[in-house]
Amino acid sequence: MKRIQFFTGTMDAMKSATLMMRHFNYNKKGLKTLVLKPYKDGRDGDKVISRAFNDPISAVVIKDSNELAELMNLHEYDVIMVDEIQFFDIESIKVLESLCYYQGVTVEVYGLLTDYLGHAFPASQRLMSCANVNVTNSLCKCGNEAYYNMRLLNGVPFFGEAPQIAVGDVNSNDVVSYEPKCGRCYLDANINWDLYSKGEVDEEEK
Ligand SMILES: [Zn+2]
Repeated sequence: MKRIQFFTGTMDAMKSATLMMRHFNYNKKGLKTLVLKPYKDGRDGDKVISRAFNDPISAVVIKDSNELAELMNLHEYDVIMVDEIQFFDIESIKVLESLCYYQGVTVEVYGLLTDYLGHAFPASQRLMSCANVNVTNSLCKCGNEAYYNMRLLNGVPFFGEAPQIAVGDVNSNDVVSYEPKCGRCYLDANINWDLYSKGEVDEEEK
């Protein structure tokens, strides 16, 4: 029986590039392929882009599981590829499971496993139990493998309470941005943030 393929890893780990490469191969073999992405990821409109490729590929933007279910009634594709899967709800994952297990469609999903606090996104958590998981992480600035997605607010590491979803890129000057971190660098930044937020940094410097 077919199993959903979950391609995951930190930000900047070439997940979209992997999607585009595999999409190219499916098309070359004449398989009818549909690419989906969530409405919440408004960065690139109806395109999936990667710095590794010149040309973006078109995607259908999905708002919620109802819209996904209606689309799936078409059953006309050999392969369904979904980018930024962490922004979908669990009901959407169930729709994809049904498509894969009952209809025999090849389903590949791409996205983050954990948020900026290291907590699993609900959709990704569900996928960990039902999908075949392929992990490729990016590198921390120190050179070690990164497996945390640290959030920065105006360029400063942030570990406080905030919405789980806040769209941002790596190395950007936007209000919200992210940086892939290894365990040690992530914990260092977290400890510094804890001290700073309690006002203990100033105390130490006196
Ligand atoms: Zn590091």
